[in-house]
Amino acid sequence: MESSDLLYQEIILDHNRNPRNFGELSNATHKAVGHNPLCGDYIELYLIVKDNVIVDVKFSGVGCAISKSSASIMTTILKGKTIEEAKQIFNDFHTAITSEIDKKIDTQNLGKLEVFLGVREFPVRVKCVTLPWHTFIDAIEKNS
Ligand code: ZN
Repeated sequence: MESSDLLYQEIILDHNRNPRNFGELSNATHKAVGHNPLCGDYIELYLIVKDNVIVDVKFSGVGCAISKSSASIMTTILKGKTIEEAKQIFNDFHTAITSEIDKKIDTQNLGKLEVFLGVREFPVRVKCVTLPWHTFIDAIEKNS
């Protein structure tokens, strides 16, 4: 195992133990529920969007370490982004994480999301990683 894999595991475990932005927003402008029956992951996502900017975001629910840490990291990324920026980040991330394991990925614009690229070896787990993001897209498109 490469040392970077260990580092990434540590980041994922940290976000699982201490999820950021965990909770609910009673004054949310956008809300959605996501469910991954393959793993049992369940997420509720709350957003406050003002003038096309995500000013606050929280999530709650239960899930495996991968889905929970993915949701946690996602919330830290979404805050302060415009809807368009957020969608572009997910586009790049989705392309990267669904690509072949031996494909060289340009990690430049992935930022913190790079920690999940190891999951490409486990296709079932890819759904755990992308669930929070699909829930985000759902929330935005349902309520806009
Ligand atoms: Zn899962």
